[in-house]
Amino acid sequence: MKVIDHINSAKSTLVSFEILPPLKGKTINSIYDHLDPLMEFKPSFINVTYHRSEFVFKKKADGTFEKVEVRKRPGTVGICAAIMNHYHVDAVPHLICGGFNKRETEDALIDLNFIGCDNVLVLRGDAAKNETNFEPEPGGNKYAIDLLKQTVNLNNGIYLEEDIREGFRTNFCIGVAGYPEKHFEAPNLENDLSHLKAKVDAGAEYITTQMFFNNQKYFEFVDACRAAGITVPIIPGLKPLTSKKQMTVIPRTFHVDLPSEFSNEIIKCKTDLEVEKVGTDWLIHQSKELKKAGVPVLHYYTLGKPRVIYNAVKEIF
Ligand code: FAD
Repeated sequence: MKVIDHINSAKSTLVSFEILPPLKGKTINSIYDHLDPLMEFKPSFINVTYHRSEFVFKKKADGTFEKVEVRKRPGTVGICAAIMNHYHVDAVPHLICGGFNKRETEDALIDLNFIGCDNVLVLRGDAAKNETNFEPEPGGNKYAIDLLKQTVNLNNGIYLEEDIREGFRTNFCIGVAGYPEKHFEAPNLENDLSHLKAKVDAGAEYITTQMFFNNQKYFEFVDACRAAGITVPIIPGLKPLTSKKQMTVIPRTFHVDLPSEFSNEIIKCKTDLEVEKVGTDWLIHQSKELKKAGVPVLHYYTLGKPRVIYNAVKEIF
């Protein structure tokens, strides 16, 4: 079932989770161990992130270094199939432009269609670790909107091969990312919103937001989207903060602020266990307020912290 149909048929706020594929070498059981306790909350869908390969330098026997390409977290399509079969819950694979050409993207979309997946969240991806700015692959998509248009084409039976005139029409419900605190490369929110509107006008049916720790940012973002003519559902993305280190890592990595009321509490903590308690309480407070405001879905980035998410979500659903 499509994400948009879940939202449209819901009587109250839904819950969804996001997971990362396991590191190469681990089994699918690590995903089941992660998700099993969370299934108690009957998530409407589960997102699975997508990861490009990266270059690492490996030391050789003679002491010199060799540049090697590794894809640490493959398996998004397979994990989606596993989730759908094992739990009978809809999976939402993320697809990114970075690291993939259009042909590889088309093949991934065909695989997703063949496993019965009718959802996809399309993203640009970030710059590769060895690059300063995002560079598309030769023959790849440059912006999320280009990947979105490729997916819409497939929904219309238009494949890259020109001799496939009337190919099978896929039926993907397409979601896109939005940034309550602005995408870090955008010169201002207005400019960022114009690109977000273009994605919606091109066929995106809903928006999932970057994490935020101040609900006011989300509410203002929704207001700004509505004023800009963006009418689709906007799903808030939420993440728990669980260590003191994250107080600097999260703003640096995700370009989001922590409200001082929250950071002041974290600073007072003596151990990460205390931080986890403060972070869980903050997540519960955010979730309750958002649910009261009638958001369509509470989407939790579980990112290796299923126990913390469990403890928070059990207070809400
Ligand atoms: P875009 O929509 O392409 O926007 C990127 C930037 O370009 C923005 O500043 C935008 O304003 C600007 N822009 C857009 N279109 C144009 C245009 N036509 N001309 C000029 N400027 C333009 N990354 C992963 O690698 N894997 C994941 O699984 C993943 N999942 C994510 C899930 C969510 C909910 C979110 C919020 C992010 C996720 N990311 C993931 C990170 C994401 O890939 C990065 O934030 C990336 O930098 C931007 O992706 P985007 O889809 O928003 O890009």
